[in-house]
Formats: sequence, structure tokens, C-alpha cells
Amino acid sequence: MVEQPFECPLCAGQGADPFLDLRDEMTGGETQYALVRCRHCGLLRLHPAPDAPTLAAAYRSDYAPHTRRGLSGWAKGRLEGRSVRQLWALFGPPRRVLDVGCATGELLVRIRAAGNPDVFGIEPGAEAAAVARRRGLPVILGTLDDARLQAESVDTVIMSHTLEHVADPLLTLREVARVLRPGGALVLWLPNASSVEARVLGRYWIGYDAPRHVTTFTVATLSQALLSAGLDVDSVRHEAVGLEWAWGLRLWLRRRAPSVERVLRRFHVPLIVAATPLALIGALTQRSGRIRVIARKPA
Ligand SMILES: [Zn+2]
Repeated sequence: MVEQPFECPLCAGQGADPFLDLRDEMTGGETQYALVRCRHCGLLRLHPAPDAPTLAAAYRSDYAPHTRRGLSGWAKGRLEGRSVRQLWALFGPPRRVLDVGCATGELLVRIRAAGNPDVFGIEPGAEAAAVARRRGLPVILGTLDDARLQAESVDTVIMSHTLEHVADPLLTLREVARVLRPGGALVLWLPNASSVEARVLGRYWIGYDAPRHVTTFTVATLSQALLSAGLDVDSVRHEAVGLEWAWGLRLWLRRRAPSVERVLRRFHVPLIVAATPLALIGALTQRSGRIRVIARKPA
């Protein structure tokens, strides 16, 4: 039984069942975080939700998405470049594009370089936001709610690995729906818990990433959240990226054979490439650990 009463931020239902006990595998911490499953809609949440000091400590200045050094950054850059080309109909001019949780602004820089100067970001991490601003990007420091944007003022909203971090995802999606112009699009990248990766890697699946990932979605719970926010699901794409297998192996080894993991760290990118056939299984069976979802505000 879960000790504190649980009220689901997605369906407002009461009560949840234990799903998985997690630790911060990225830092190797021993603190336990309980991932629970809503009895009514199946939403996965950390419960109790981590408090502000815990989260502040969990986003240290070396938080990987905010640094992206070396080959790993290069690999992510390649993926982003491909996405920008594929989604140019949503990212290109005359559209006004907002990246919520833009980190250091990599994706916005790519969109700007590809020919659309009308881009801006929102980022709660002060150091990451400062890097993005030094690149000449307009960035609002804080959350989407803090920003108080004008209604119907944005054509495309990007949330790349952001929604799983926010305190109240339904509230955030409703704010996205408010700022989008009718017919505008939301492009989401996020982990999918109804995946081969989550099933096989269990607590070492990077998609759980406690305590930073407060909510973990499945295709079903995400679709419900989007519909509740007034957005229509346009497409769900299961991506084949070996990254989660590479991280799963490394995080598993980190607990058992740290010296082996330290060696493997240098081979992170070859490991991702080697794991791509495994990732293809998830993608081909529509059970990938990493999904790209496009939703639209009705015109
Ligand atoms: Zn629920």
C-alpha cells in the first residue's frame, strides 16, 4: 500500500499501486523513489513527488542534456539535424517556433540555421539558458507557466524530453494548447514506458530517470493527456535509437562493476550504434522506448 494519499494529475482518480522502486542511477545515489501506477488510468508517477531541494540537487551543472560534450553531443546533433529536415513543414517560416525546455538551445540553433529566424525558448535551468542566450537566442528563464505568453501566439511548440520533468503535465499541456494558434502543432519527444526497453531494462531504463522524471508516460496515457488538454494526436513515431540500451547496460554495470563501466564510458557512441538492431525491434513492433508524437490544436 502507498502511504500518502495519491491523487492522479491526469484523471484526478484516487489511489495508486506500487510499480517499481527506483534510485538515481545517473549519480549512483541510494535514496529510494517509489514509482506508482494510478489505479484508474495507469499513469506512472513518482509518489510522493520529489521536493524542490531534491530536484535542485538532481539538476547539477553537469546534467548531461545541458552540456552534451564530445561524441555523445555529436550523435545527438545528427539526430536533431535529421528531425529538423523531416519536420521542416512544422519548423520552417513563416512559423513562430517555441522550444519549451530548450536547454542550451541546440535544436533552435539548427532551425534558425536552416532558415527560420522566428524562434525562441523557455528554460528553467539558469546556466543552460545563459548558454542559449550567448548563442543569440531569445530565451525566457523559467517555466511555460511563468512566461505568461499571449494566447494563440505560437505556431509550433517543441517539447523534447521535457514533459516527463514538469510537475503537472496536464496543466502544462493545457498551457501549450492556449498559446498555440488554431491548427498549430506540438512536437513531443519522450520516453515510452510501454516499450521493450522498459520491460527488459527495468529500473535501469533511462526513461525512468528518477528523481528528474516525475511522470513516465505510455502511448495510452500520453494520448489521454493530450486529448484532455484539447489537442488531437496526429502521429506517433517509434524511433530506433540504441541510446537506451547503451545507457541501460552502463547503468546496470555502474552498480555491479564500476571499473568496467568506466572503461565502457569511452565507447558510448559505438555502443549506441551496436545496440541499434535491438532498438529496431522496439521500433518495428511499435514498442520503442523513445517516441516522437505530433499533436495539433483543432483549427
Ligand atoms: Zn489516473
